[in-house]
Amino acid sequence: MDMTEALLTKIKASMAHAMQGEFYRNHFRGIHPEAIQSREDFEKLPFTEKEDLREAYPLGLLAVQEEAIVRIHSSSGTTGTPVIIPYTQQDVDDWAVMFARCYETAGVTRQDRVHITPGYGLWTAGIGFQRGAELLGAMAIPLGPGNTDKQIKMMIDLQSTVLCATSSYALLLAEEIEKRGVREQIALRKSLIGSERWGEKMRSRIAAELGVELYDIYGLTEIYGPGIGISCKHACGMHLWTDYLYYEIIDPKTGEPRRNGEIGELVITTLRKEGAPLIRYRTHDLTRELSGDCPCGLDFPRIDTLIGRSDDMVKVKGTIIYPSRVDELLATIKDVSSEYQIIIDHLNGRDILNLLFETTLQDRAALKSLEKTVETAFKDRIGLTPHAKAVGMGELPRSEKKSTRIFDNRY
Ligand code: ZN
Repeated sequence: MDMTEALLTKIKASMAHAMQGEFYRNHFRGIHPEAIQSREDFEKLPFTEKEDLREAYPLGLLAVQEEAIVRIHSSSGTTGTPVIIPYTQQDVDDWAVMFARCYETAGVTRQDRVHITPGYGLWTAGIGFQRGAELLGAMAIPLGPGNTDKQIKMMIDLQSTVLCATSSYALLLAEEIEKRGVREQIALRKSLIGSERWGEKMRSRIAAELGVELYDIYGLTEIYGPGIGISCKHACGMHLWTDYLYYEIIDPKTGEPRRNGEIGELVITTLRKEGAPLIRYRTHDLTRELSGDCPCGLDFPRIDTLIGRSDDMVKVKGTIIYPSRVDELLATIKDVSSEYQIIIDHLNGRDILNLLFETTLQDRAALKSLEKTVETAFKDRIGLTPHAKAVGMGELPRSEKKSTRIFDNRY
């Protein structure tokens, strides 16, 4: 993203504010915001990693007096200490404004009934979807996750028109609706799917089975939550709300800037955040900058749909595998579903890549031949031969949270 003089001033102000707090006072020790004169200067600042935020647990990220904090959220603690993000009133209001803008971009109006399945509580998702819907003036239906029977009953009784969900939960609901034969009774027209990398096949299944237009909504707990960007009806990447954020794309290995639409990791700096501002925060999401104006007319830059996580890329026998490439590959093969898992093992000094995929086929000979087809296609397109194994539909786990596709058992 370009750096204008006005933007540089905003960034320096955000940095100076961040350094009011202990966390950035230490992180940027010896650096003065006024010394940042150019984009190049800015790009020499150290990155902020999630690991750094963990070390600030519980409230070390505070950049304002504690009285100014009205709420906290926390990112998942499944891997060690959680990260706690404190929000001021302005922070929660700004988030709602961005989120309402997401709904507007997706064509959601005051007439819509917004069915919210992401979780409530410490996690940022549910309440972000709700406050944005309320600010827009739509009817929020705050279900939260789980209890599929109730989800479908409410969806029918209340004639929900917009479904907010993760891709894996939207798929689970789509499959249940199909199974119960209640497709004709639901009124969904749009679905906002929390951003994670998800393939074309899954996308088209959800769109077809629910009969909805799909929108990718982007965000992460460390930076407000979901709602800092969204795709528009032209489905060409996601617009980011750059009046609240500055973003960079970097080489995940070297940290060097990647311009001109090369794939790299998204790094975000907050411009207005009070409670816990972040400067050069590494999201570990892989994407690229898209150039040119969007036909929707929105004057906000776009990044591509997420390609994966920089920590999800795996190297097997010298070949880099991105989950998105596997999605794309499987989407081209008939009778293979969008659900798969890759398990990498190390046996007798060799790496072995196992690929499990779902199929509706049952005949033994047909299954064998399909496995062979998948192995050959994988070798041709990705560069190494996996052990492919077909399993029945629904045998691989679905979850309400983000699906993990690659299990690396080598270390
Ligand atoms: Zn657009």
